[in-house]
Amino acid sequence: MPCIVDGSMAPEYLRRARPDVRALLDQALEGIRIREADACILIEADAPDDVSAILAVAGHLRSRLKGTVVTYSPKVFLPVTNLCRDRCSYCTFRSDPDDPHAWTMRPEEIRGCCRSGRAQGCIEALMCLGDKPERAFRAYRETLQALGHATTIGYVHQACEIALDEGLLPHTNAGVMSREEMTGLKPVNVSMGLMLENISPRLRRKGEAHFHAPDKDPQRRLQMLREAGELQIPFTTGILLGIGETRAERVASLAAIRDLHTCYGHIQEVIIQNFRAKPTTKMAGAPEPESLDIAQTIAVARLLLGDMNIQAPPNLSPYDHRLFLAAGINDWGGISPLTPDYVNPEAPWPHVSALADTCAQEGFQLEARLPIYTEYIGRPGFLEPSMHVAISQHAAIRGGALC
Ligand code: SF4
Repeated sequence: MPCIVDGSMAPEYLRRARPDVRALLDQALEGIRIREADACILIEADAPDDVSAILAVAGHLRSRLKGTVVTYSPKVFLPVTNLCRDRCSYCTFRSDPDDPHAWTMRPEEIRGCCRSGRAQGCIEALMCLGDKPERAFRAYRETLQALGHATTIGYVHQACEIALDEGLLPHTNAGVMSREEMTGLKPVNVSMGLMLENISPRLRRKGEAHFHAPDKDPQRRLQMLREAGELQIPFTTGILLGIGETRAERVASLAAIRDLHTCYGHIQEVIIQNFRAKPTTKMAGAPEPESLDIAQTIAVARLLLGDMNIQAPPNLSPYDHRLFLAAGINDWGGISPLTPDYVNPEAPWPHVSALADTCAQEGFQLEARLPIYTEYIGRPGFLEPSMHVAISQHAAIRGGALC
């Protein structure tokens, strides 16, 4: 049986696929974007020949639309605070102020981490933190006050300034932010992010993963994605697989992201992230998505999203890198030589050299990139003048190459 990692085998697999799947894949190969209803047919297909054909065509389209370069962002992960007012059923990152592992990074810690990261070749300062802790915790409000701030976002602004001062380019993911908060952060960020996770309001019902997470209301998150588009912020989002959603709800979420990007052109990458079960959480016994399920979702995302950038985190599926390349990704996201994935601390980053070898064996070149994709750097309105200066300084540091 031919290997599904070879996109050039698409015609053979098309012959084996059932007629309705084949017709949709033929359309995709002709450059016609598939509709949401068609994507539902493809994501529900479970016959091995159909799944192989879907992956092969998606991989073929990736190579046609994105070439053979696969990127990653060398980063430091700065968990500015792990206090969070939400309680997602799968999360081990969040804490309350009296938890032994609660933290809020001090400015000198942020600076030290950025300096070490810069020395180790990092480009991105990922500000990733809990959502609106000041609304839930008096002790944290006092911490913020001692740091000279009334809001978490005010403190994140200072953290971004520190990162820029140390030669890194900030990308903030601080949960749901208002238009005003994003406007305030744009002059000190090259991009921002918020996972849509899933568009289904069902996941906020009692017993579901987001019942205790008001900031996971999909309409609030869609509103932020929309406002980020209006503000011309290069934006990262994505979906989370395995949190109780249906496959059709995955497609609906991807379609919503595509529609927003069609309106505003600001979604610089779409992450297809798989849930990992953690022993101390409510979802400790929930099944994790299987490799082929993730790959099929990546492939359907490629067919639905066309030439948008599609990312899968390499640390969450360490044995599936070849499969995900075959299914149509063109980016691995952030990888750090210094800091762990605080959200999934059990999952170490791969060594870049090993990942590059895997990519090369599959016919791809692994390249570092900035936390803003190159296509947004020269696009009018998407970068503040101050960020152009930061990027050009960074390019100078790296010998003029913008990755
Ligand atoms: S996943 Fe994010 S929003 Fe949910 S509890 Fe954890 S830190 Fe808070």
